[in-house]
Amino acid sequence: MHGVESWQWKEDQEEKEEAQGVTPLPECAICGLESNQLYKCKRCGERFCEECGSVEDKLCLFCLEDEEEDSSEEEWEEEEEDEEEQE
Ligand SMILES: [Zn+2]
Ligand SMILES: [Zn+2]
Repeated sequence: MHGVESWQWKEDQEEKEEAQGVTPLPECAICGLESNQLYKCKRCGERFCEECGSVEDKLCLFCLEDEEEDSSEEEWEEEEEDEEEQE
């Protein structure tokens, strides 16, 4: 039976991890840096280090870029409306 063999192997791995007693540090979702000083993005929920986003806004680099794109699109629509009124 193959199933029994793999189950025993799994138990072996768990014992090893307990013996080491190491708690893995959280990783930055952007650059992969392991740090205790990570911030949670309020938009996507990813953890990022202070190098990879805005700590004040609680936004990671990816979401910071998204927000900038959104606001520029709104400005474009307003300009098109003005042109129609002139004719
Ligand atoms: Zn980072
Ligand atoms: Zn984010």
